[in-house]
Amino acid sequence: MAETTEELSAVPQTPAPELNATVRCDAGKCGAQAWTVFRNFKGQDLVFCAHDTTKHQEALMKQGFALIRDDRGKINTKPSPSANV
Ligand SMILES: [Zn+2]
Repeated sequence: MAETTEELSAVPQTPAPELNATVRCDAGKCGAQAWTVFRNFKGQDLVFCAHDTTKHQEALMKQGFALIRDDRGKINTKPSPSANV
C-alpha cells in the first residue's frame, strides 16, 4: 500500500469503512444511500449522500474533517459502449 496522503496528517489512516446500499447518510433525516466518508482527527467517521456531501463538505473541512472515501463515481455506473476503444 503506497497511497499518498494529501489530507490533514492528523486524520487517522486506518481504512475507510465500506459503503454499500445499507449505509445511510448521516445528515439529519436524509436517509439516502451514503457515497462518501469524512473523518476527523479523533477517527470519527461521518457518511453522506452525494447531495449532502456537496452541501456540507466545506463546513466539514473547516471542522477538521477530511474526505477519506468518495464513491460518487460509482453512482449510475453503466457499462461504457466504448470500453474497449
Ligand atoms: Zn443525505
